[in-house]
This record gives sequence, structure tokens and C-alpha cells, in this order.
Amino acid sequence: MTHRPLTRLVHGGRATAVDGGRPVNPPLVRASTVLFDSTAQMREMRGRRGSERLFTYGARGTPTAFALEDMVTELEGGYRTRLFPTGLSAAAMTLLACLRPGQHVLLPDCVYEPVRRLATGFLAQHGIAAGFYAGDGHDLQARLRPETRLVYVETPGSLAYEMCDLPAIAGIAHRHGALVAADNTWGSGLLYRPLALGADISLMAATKYLSGHSDVMMGTVCATEAAWPALAGVADAFGIAVSPDDAYLVQRGMRTLGARMAQHERGALVVARWLQARAEVAEVFCPALPGDPGHALWRRDCHGTNGLLSFALREAAPGAAGHFIDHLALFGIGASWGGFESLAVLADMRGARSVTDWSARGQVVRLHIGLEDSDDLIADLARGFEAMARMAAYGIDSDGGGEQHQ
Ligand SMILES: *Cc1c(COP(=O)(O)O)cnc(C)c1O
Repeated sequence: MTHRPLTRLVHGGRATAVDGGRPVNPPLVRASTVLFDSTAQMREMRGRRGSERLFTYGARGTPTAFALEDMVTELEGGYRTRLFPTGLSAAAMTLLACLRPGQHVLLPDCVYEPVRRLATGFLAQHGIAAGFYAGDGHDLQARLRPETRLVYVETPGSLAYEMCDLPAIAGIAHRHGALVAADNTWGSGLLYRPLALGADISLMAATKYLSGHSDVMMGTVCATEAAWPALAGVADAFGIAVSPDDAYLVQRGMRTLGARMAQHERGALVVARWLQARAEVAEVFCPALPGDPGHALWRRDCHGTNGLLSFALREAAPGAAGHFIDHLALFGIGASWGGFESLAVLADMRGARSVTDWSARGQVVRLHIGLEDSDDLIADLARGFEAMARMAAYGIDSDGGGEQHQ
């Protein structure tokens, strides 16, 4: 029976029966060596493990990791899932699985920056060419080359949350004979379903919302049956496995993903509307806001929004955005997002975009709205704007000694 996503999060990847009762959660199984009853059984299992998921050696995954794989597969609606030590390694191994020297990949201008660097650095050194298309995908067709074998999608994109029309992009790519891989970290399997919209591969940084507690790193890649063998092949060739303890933590986090996401969304929308009304703010980037360029696609394809939003400052002195962030007390300053806590970082849009020209736009602040009370978060942001105003009036050192970091 196919259940809705909130039900899958609770009932997916449960413990299997043992003698007597069974725990709610699958047991934590730590293993390198796996024992067999006979040489014949060992030979038989090894013969089958290329195509079947069998517990034969720790590097091929443990029952704890398998339970998490199953849960992700159910959520993403794919054939099977592999786990990777980080979200970045999930993206990197997806690229390596799909591309050979001499081939070409197209990535969106709004791609997560380390993936941009991987494509222009490592892939280029290994004879795989990379090009970039606009975050909304309008120029994709024109940028295809005969040797384009993969179209990579990230929607909404990193930092400014550009939406693209994935079904349209998948149509163009597939007619060209290229695969489509989507970074689904923003959607986290709940808000967006790339495989249902035409992608062949969906990957996520489980580091973010799936784990949800800022204490574990992991990546997931779920593929259709056709795209699966190449992906599994590269993961086996490189000996990629995750710690069962980490798999346990991610699965534990996922049980409450639905409840957390609803709260992140509520808080982010309250903060976004408040920011839109501030004189200091030129633009708020969040596709859930009416008026955002991606709003129509968001309404069509997404099932809600998360805790992420960015905003550009109107005219501001150099260093103003940093000064604003430094004077927030509740927002941590740090990489990543998707945990229970609020974060604020400076976004260097000029370094993060090559197709879209950001040179005329103001400094951008990226917020992750955590599970705190949104009134407290808004009061904190108001203090940040007050510090910015003092800086404009008296210079950067006259911050009035308010509540601040460190
Ligand atoms: C964070 C992130 C990643 C990488 O995940 P890590 O686990 O930090 O390596 C990949 N894609 C997107 C969109 C991300 O935000």
C-alpha cells in the first residue's frame, strides 16, 4: 500500500521480526566481518551481491544502513538508495557514475558552490567538461552539446532559491539522451519529489533536515531502476559506506521530519513577511512568497517550504551585512542548515553565480529559521538592523555595546 509521506516517515524502515517482540526502531548493528555457515553459502551470497542487497561485508552496508536506505527510497519514490559519508560525496559520486571523459555536464547557475568547484576543478582535470545554465532553466536547450550526458538540477537553488521547471528540463534532457540528477536537499523528500517530476536520480544532504540535529554528516542517492547499476557500481568500486551509528541517528531524526518541517515553515514565513516590510531590505528570496519569480512553479511542484530564506540589503555601507549578523544573539554563525537552530551567514552571490549578473545587487544574508519562537527571532533581527543603523550613523565601532556574539 502506498501511504502519504508523513505516514512513510513513521512507518518506513521499521525493525524486522525476531523471536518474541520487536523494538520500534531497527537495532544498531556494527560490523566489518559478516559470518557465514559454510564456504558454499559465502560463495553463493557473494555471487548475488552485485545485483541484490545482502549483508556480506561492512563496506556493503549493515542492516542499520539498509533500514535507512529503505526509508529514503520510500520517501523519494525510487528503486533503491545508497548512503554516502556527506552530501557533497553523494553529489560527487553521482557525477562520476553518470559521466565519462569526453562527455559534458550542465549544472544550474544556482548549484551548491562546492559542486560548482568540483565540476570546474576535479571533473575538468579528468576530461569531463562542465557548463552552467540559468537557475530558472530558460537557456538549457541552447546550452546542450552533442556530448552532454547529464543535466544536473538544484531547485530551489542554493542561496537565492531559484525555481526551475523540472518536468520541462527532464523532457529536454531525455530527448537529448542525457540523464537528469537532482539535488533534493532543499525538499528533503517531503517538500519536493524529483523522481516523480522526471529526474532519474535524486540526492540529498541528510546532514540537513533528515538528521535535523546538527550532529551528523551523510548523503543519500536514490535512483530509478535504470540509473541504479552505475550508481551502485561507483559506490562499490570506491568502497563507500557509512557508520551504522550515523545511519541510526539520521533515521531517528527522520521520524520527526514532518513535525519539524511544519514548524520551520511557519517560522520562516513569519520572518519573511516581516523582512519584506523592512525599509533596509531590497528583496526577500523565498519561492513560497507571492511575487517571487519562482512562486508559480513552487505552487505547482512543492508541498510547502522550509526554514530557508535570504534577503538582499538595499543600499548599505560595505560591511553592513556582516555587522548585522555579528549583532544577532539567537542566530548562530556557521555553515550548513536544517538543524533545530537558527543560523545566519553572509552569501557571496558574485562568487556563487556565473550566468546571472549579481554585480548591481546588494549584500545578501542567508537565514535558516530554526524551531525557536518567531517573535524572539524577529526581535533579534530588529536588534541587528538597529546595529546597522548605528554603524551608518557613527561608524563601524560604535555599536552601543548591545547583546551580541562572543
Ligand atoms: C549542504 C548541501 C550539500 C552538501 O552536504 P554536506 O553533507 O554538507 O556535504 C549539498 N547540496 C546542498 C544543496 C546543500 O545545501
